[in-house]
Amino acid sequence: MNLHGTAQIGENHHLWIGGMDTIDLAKKYGTPLYLYDVALIKNRARGFKKAFEEKGIGYQVAYASKAFSSIAIIQLLDQEGLSLDVVSGGELFTALQADFPAERIHFHGNNKSPEELEFALNAGVGCIVVDNFFEISLLKTLCRKRNQKIKILLRLTPGIEAHTHDYIITGQEDSKFGFDLGNGQADAALKEVLDFELFEVLGVHCHIGSQIFETDGFTLAIEKLFNHFHTWDKECDFFPKVVNLGGGFGIQYTSEDTPLLPEQYVTAMIDEVSRQMNLFEDKQMPELWIEPGRSLVGDAGTTIYSIGSQKEIEGVRHYVSVDGGMTDNIRPALYQAKYDAYVANKMNEKPSNTVSIAGKCCESGDMLIWDLELPNVTDSDYLAVTCTGAYGYSMANNYNRIGRPAVVFVENGDEQLVVKRETYEDLIRQDLPLKTKVFV
Ligand SMILES: *Cc1c(COP(=O)(O)O)cnc(C)c1O
Repeated sequence: MNLHGTAQIGENHHLWIGGMDTIDLAKKYGTPLYLYDVALIKNRARGFKKAFEEKGIGYQVAYASKAFSSIAIIQLLDQEGLSLDVVSGGELFTALQADFPAERIHFHGNNKSPEELEFALNAGVGCIVVDNFFEISLLKTLCRKRNQKIKILLRLTPGIEAHTHDYIITGQEDSKFGFDLGNGQADAALKEVLDFELFEVLGVHCHIGSQIFETDGFTLAIEKLFNHFHTWDKECDFFPKVVNLGGGFGIQYTSEDTPLLPEQYVTAMIDEVSRQMNLFEDKQMPELWIEPGRSLVGDAGTTIYSIGSQKEIEGVRHYVSVDGGMTDNIRPALYQAKYDAYVANKMNEKPSNTVSIAGKCCESGDMLIWDLELPNVTDSDYLAVTCTGAYGYSMANNYNRIGRPAVVFVENGDEQLVVKRETYEDLIRQDLPLKTKVFV
């Protein structure tokens, strides 16, 4: 059994998180229910910051809010002193509604619309991470029209793609994101943005992947970037004040996953940057920014489901269905993501069956977990799926007109509802009735 954060087995053999009995919470708020372990989120935020502070490096830790965006999580991470990444007008709106300081918001995305860019300029965001040539000209036009200066980072594609234990070096990156370092696009983009008086070019950004377990993809990316900085120093008299190395730090969804501690990624990055800086005599160490999403909120989240029907096909498979599925966690259906789960009210019982956990949607692909070892269960039991805090609620949807679950934060024996469950009324809120006689 692999419990995360403050999760533990209570004397009543229930799963407890943040000093709260998850079964009590399930009964109070209904299921499916997302629970977040606030202490674990705070520990992660502090761990990242400490790794920079111990080395005396200027930094920003920006939470990639696409992992889970809601007013309360943004307020919590504001309290922890983090910065924030947003990738759409909707994420920016949420951040502003949470009173997150605009100067610590970074605006990302490969296809920001003119309206979204104006929204960001109106709000006074801290920087815009410029992704492509189309965006450069769009942003120039807007800045000129408004006579407004804006800080920018250039998103670069260093030709390294990292996946868990491997990284792939791709000469010419085939990616929809950023300016390629290898084919001259990055150089052309830099010249263009340096030439425009209303841009303050803070530096560069790269994000090499997600759910990464090793540090060598990051250090290799740093090496490639800094090799380029020599050329830029000579040819454009430019050296970055900020190097943003993205997110992607892995978490342990199942025992197959073997991530490092979050701060180990940061330490490896700092060491490699310091090594590279030895080759620049007269330059200041840039600020290092990172953008963790999953590693801040992923394993802090647990989804509690009620178990319903079961179907046993002798010698083939034993299906156990829960009252949610791909509507609250699409990752298994979308990319075969693996999860662990426990019977939250029978934590003491030994597994006796191999079952597969099915969702309730009208899709054969709506499966949450294949081949899970569980004790015998009935329809009065609750299933806790762990590590659902990232890309769970944020990717949740209303397929089959199923409402999104509620979200509850727990900490130190206290609970707080932070997102209400969607009702049937919510589901038809945007629907308009057919006007009579229009189509007859
Ligand atoms: C998705 C993303 C992140 C966060 O990735 P995690 O794997 O959740 O840490 C950070 N930066 C950028 C640019 C991203 O697209």
